[in-house]
Formats: sequence, structure tokens, C-alpha cells
Amino acid sequence: MNGFPKTATAVLDPSSGLAALVEVLRAHGFQVIAPVARGGVISYDAVRDGDDLPTGVRTEQAPGHFRLTTDGSGTRFGWTPAADSWRRWFFPAEEELLRIRRTDGSFVVSRPEPPARPLALLGARDCEVRGVAVLDRVLLEGEHPDPRYAARRRDAFVVAVTCGVPADTCWCTSAGGGPHPEAGFDIRLTEVPGDAHRLVAEAGTERGADVLAAVAARCAAPEAGDADLADCAAVAERAAAGMRRPVDAATLPTLLAGADRHPHWDDVAARCLSCANCTLVCPTCFCVTIDDVTPLTDDGSPATESVRRQQWASCFQLDHSNLGGRPVRSTTASRYRQWLTHKLGTWQAQFGTSGCVGCGRCTTWCPAGIDLPVEAALLAVPSEGDVA
Ligand code: SF4
Ligand code: SF4
Repeated sequence: MNGFPKTATAVLDPSSGLAALVEVLRAHGFQVIAPVARGGVISYDAVRDGDDLPTGVRTEQAPGHFRLTTDGSGTRFGWTPAADSWRRWFFPAEEELLRIRRTDGSFVVSRPEPPARPLALLGARDCEVRGVAVLDRVLLEGEHPDPRYAARRRDAFVVAVTCGVPADTCWCTSAGGGPHPEAGFDIRLTEVPGDAHRLVAEAGTERGADVLAAVAARCAAPEAGDADLADCAAVAERAAAGMRRPVDAATLPTLLAGADRHPHWDDVAARCLSCANCTLVCPTCFCVTIDDVTPLTDDGSPATESVRRQQWASCFQLDHSNLGGRPVRSTTASRYRQWLTHKLGTWQAQFGTSGCVGCGRCTTWCPAGIDLPVEAALLAVPSEGDVA
């Protein structure tokens, strides 16, 4: 990645600039993963062209509610957050770990090859960048790193985007983040809407500057001036001011530690379906289950192959807490308590960080409309049933 003068900032046209960014990332050997509007939601998928990203799309989000709308504005990032998260691109919902074949009296063990091309995540919001950092703590920096996660995560290029229009379910400012990503990216884009609609790009790393220089050269993009950067700050400030779910996340670990017999757990359990949707959309959940599958043969002869697979699991599954053949958490109340107290409380002690980035996905995608920050706030109020 050289041959271009380094560029730390550039002002890009929202259409041709985005197209150039996708082209340059692909030319540098990345598989570009970006938001796409498909099937009534925003999800993340491989793209080949800047036009594959949504234009003029908004989302309506509320507890148990998501709707995609269009406003004809031509904005490229006027929605947030997606239904999807980046998690599945580093940590797939299902993957083969190894395959064992019996041949001529011996066994041959094979493992899937790591991906041929590194990933470029285009359009990562601050909650998503921090969500990947949480997964890194668990799957990369822990005592037992996951080699498949490490292979996908290694060399991944991150193009972060400032959130200009937070959803009603967003609460990242209470969870240690904010609309303006501050770290963990190679390039940060901020969309400034209006008459002078533009994308202001800032490099966060050396290789981000290399890519940005190539993009700027393709579109003859000027460097950002003070007025551009001031507009970016104003976009982030307006978005932060629009967050409506203030939560005192810093006090939650202590308060929740003393709330294990709080009567509100039963109140939530009366509404919770134990469907696990919240854990599936969460960008930081990492529980898995592993099984061995031996395919049946057509002619009834002994099987010659066995496949070991890993699949996402959820603390809402009854058998997830099996100990000695019986579930330790047999009630919905105990499973919801596990989910909430681990995310917001005990994760701190285990991994040195909160397990929640305040993205609000679990609220939007809960079919019962259970709103995690609201429930946490109620649980943080001491009751007579609390354990001292
Ligand atoms: S617990 Fe909910 S708000 Fe927190 S990171 Fe997971 S999905 Fe987002
Ligand atoms: S909190 Fe909502 S999404 Fe999560 S398991 Fe219960 S009903 Fe499903």
C-alpha cells in the first residue's frame, strides 16, 4: 500500500467518493462488507460497488419494532443501527471446526482453510467498533484465543461512520461510547447532510491514510478544512443530544450484584418468551455449543466421516446451563437474570469491560418489547427481596 502521498483527511462526494472507497479497498485485496438494505432491514453483506450501499434510507426503531423507510434525501448513512452486527463476519453462527475421515485403516484430520482475503468493514458505527473490541477481549486476548476468529480478525480494515441519526433505542452515550467513533478504525467517515452534502473522511491509522490517499487521488478530493471538521463535530453533538435512554451504567455492576432476588425478575419473566432473539442480535454475545455429526451412508455401511461443528448458543436455551444432566437455570427468570447481569455486571470482573455497548438491538428485536436499559434501571432500585 504505497505509491500515493499520505492523506489524513479528504472531503468525498457521497456517491463517487463511496464508489472510489469500495474500489480502492477491493484493489488492495479486501473483501468489502458493507450495509445493504434487503428484505426490509439493513444487514451487512459483501459489496462490489458503492451503489450497493443504501441511499435515502431511514429506520424507525422502538421496543419490538423495526421499520425501514425512505426519504429521498440521498443520505448514505441516515439510519442506525442495522439489524445485523459485524459479529457473524468474524465469528459465524455456524462453522466447521474439523473433519475426520477414515481411509485404509487410518484417520485423516482436516481443518477449514482461513479466509483468502482479509475483510474490510465499511460503515461500522461506534457501538459496532466497540462491540468487536469486546469480542477481541474474549476471543483474541483471553487465555484461550479462538484461532478461527483470530484469522478473520487479523488484518481486518475498519471504516467507521459517525452516527448522525441515532435510533430511539440507542443508548451508547451511557455505555462508554458516543456517535463519533474515537478509536478502533482505519478511516472514519462523517456524513454532513444538507446543501453541501458530503462525506468527511479522516484517517485513523497509517494504512488508513494510504487508502484515503488512493481514494482522494481517484476523485480529486480536497483535504478537509476547519469548517468541515466543525460540521462533523456538530453532527455528532446533535446525535448525542438525541439519545433518550440515560442509564448510569457505571453503578450497575454493584447494584445488580445485590439484586439477585429482586421481584422484578419475575415481572420480566412473565413477558420474556425465552426466544433468544436478544442474544442473536447482540454484537458481543459469544456463547457456542459444539457437536459431532456423523453423516449416514446411502447403503447402510459404516460411516467413514465425522464433522465437528460450532454453533452460536444462548443463555436463554434451557440446556445451556446443564450441569450433571440438569439445567441449573430452569426458569425464564433465572435465564433472563443471567443474560442481564452478565452483560451489564459480571462481564466487568471477567473481562475488564462491560459486555454491553448500548446499541439497543436487543430492545428493537425483542418480540415482547422488553427494553434492557429500562429493566436494568428498575432492577437497580433496591427492593425488600434483595440480598444484602
Ligand atoms: S445487550 Fe443489547 S444493547 Fe447491549 S450490546 Fe447487546 S444488543 Fe446491544
Ligand atoms: S428478552 Fe425478549 S428477545 Fe430476549 S429471550 Fe426474552 S422475549 Fe426473547
